[in-house]
Amino acid sequence: MYDVAVIGAGLGGLQTAYLLAKKGMKVIVLEQGKLLGGCLQTFKRGSQCFDTGFHYIGGMDEGQPLNRIFKLFNLIDLPWVKMDTQGFDHIYYQDKKYLFKNGYENFREQMTEYFPSQKENLISYTAFIQEIGENIFEAFNRTQEEILNSESPFSKPAKEYLDSVITDENLKNVLSGTSPKLPLTDKLPLYHFAQINSSFIQSAYRIKGGGMQIAQRLAENIKKFGGEILTDSKVISLEEKNGEISAVEILGKGKIEVKNVVSNVHPKELMSMLDKVTFVRAAQKRRYAALENSFGMFTVNIALKKDVLKYQNNNIYIHKTQDIWNEGSQKASSKPSCALISYTVPEQGDYAQNIDILTPMLYKDVEKFDNGSLPMHRGKEYEDFKLQKAQQLLDLAQEYVPGIKNAVDKFYVSTPLTYQNYTSTAQGSAYGLIKKMPFQKLASNIYWTGQNIGLHGILGVSMTSLLTFRLITGELPQL
Ligand SMILES: Cc1cc2nc3c(=O)[nH]c(=O)nc-3n(C[C@H](O)[C@H](O)[C@H](O)COP(=O)(O)OP(=O)(O)OC[C@H]3O[C@@H](n4cnc5c(N)ncnc54)[C@H](O)[C@@H]3O)c2cc1C
Repeated sequence: MYDVAVIGAGLGGLQTAYLLAKKGMKVIVLEQGKLLGGCLQTFKRGSQCFDTGFHYIGGMDEGQPLNRIFKLFNLIDLPWVKMDTQGFDHIYYQDKKYLFKNGYENFREQMTEYFPSQKENLISYTAFIQEIGENIFEAFNRTQEEILNSESPFSKPAKEYLDSVITDENLKNVLSGTSPKLPLTDKLPLYHFAQINSSFIQSAYRIKGGGMQIAQRLAENIKKFGGEILTDSKVISLEEKNGEISAVEILGKGKIEVKNVVSNVHPKELMSMLDKVTFVRAAQKRRYAALENSFGMFTVNIALKKDVLKYQNNNIYIHKTQDIWNEGSQKASSKPSCALISYTVPEQGDYAQNIDILTPMLYKDVEKFDNGSLPMHRGKEYEDFKLQKAQQLLDLAQEYVPGIKNAVDKFYVSTPLTYQNYTSTAQGSAYGLIKKMPFQKLASNIYWTGQNIGLHGILGVSMTSLLTFRLITGELPQL
């Protein structure tokens, strides 16, 4: 009998298991895939290593929030590489370049140089996001009422706040320019917008060798603490006894008895496991399964020719449209109007080895290809669609990174269907639900963790794992 079975070995599942196993609980992590990490997975083609999701993190300088969290999870000595402090993100909006600099003051001064008439407004804006970014652990002290209050940054829409504090439309768009790292919709809570933007203004880091190292390191430590991890273990059903979960059933591997379950999977996936459970009503299951998802991502992972294109220690965000807040709904039939170009840290030297180009994509644009087939077997029309979109993204990138098209050796493409297939995230959504799940109980011994209940991203998901640990044990680790 296990104290806790964690379903899913994404970041949220692994971190929760790490904390529980460290505390001495008997923990098992069950992962459907062959690899750990969910959105942290990397894949190899030849000698090249590509990230599927994660690209960079914020708030990792000494004393900053993620630095403190990563010390707790023994992740601090992974090969982190600091990005260019004088422009970690280059935002192209309406073909003008704007640099995002590290440090709240530097950031504000640089933005004021671009928009001198907004000097006072930028003082308010920067002070607000600094306040959020430097006090993220305060979130642990908030009551449910404070969080749900309509004026609270957790509930107030980000767009409403931006409209109230910034009066220049172009500046509003530039400050929102690191979408597609955020699903910019009218429902996006101000807290999500402020916390994510703020952490990167504190500092920005990439990892050399791929994001999967985070998952591998967590797994090594879970095992050291006596925890178990099973891959190729898809949980298909939960069983109940006296109104609680008593066992989980793994596809082709039988059942294991458990005292508690932590779900790191998309709520729709969890609902599919509850057929035999009577204490969650059918209407409730339908409601959870129907919650709205954020957009998915279309990604071109590019292997470059040797020593052709110089490495850039910054990201490039391209926005061709005037209204960045509507880019998430761009149609697959039209040419992409926005993209993120991210360089992978080279093993050595000044030349880039890999580049990823990402653009948001809605599930409905690939739905017709979602016919139950495995990746690579979805048919010619799907392959043609991927190729055409990849070429369009390369054409767009060429305008901002001259020479990139000539530097391409090979490329590999993924769509929301790829994510859906590998992580069972409904509709291949990149960041899970749009409106996150509250920490609502389905039963006294089912807990949630991961991006569907809190913020997405490495910092946000880490916060959910700490909260899940507190719900189970009543304790919060010292940070
Ligand atoms: C394209 C993209 C780019 C991103 N870029 C960044 C970035 O640069 N910086 C950043 O901070 N964040 C980034 N993110 C976000 C970040 O990667 C995620 O928020 C985070 O990794 C999600 O972790 P999670 O644990 O919530 O879920 P997931 O990673 O989705 O993990 C869920 C796990 O559950 C498993 N699972 C599902 N169903 C079952 C089942 N029935 N049985 C067993 N296992 C199951 C899945 O296989 C998966 O391993 C990006 C995400 C995407 C998609």
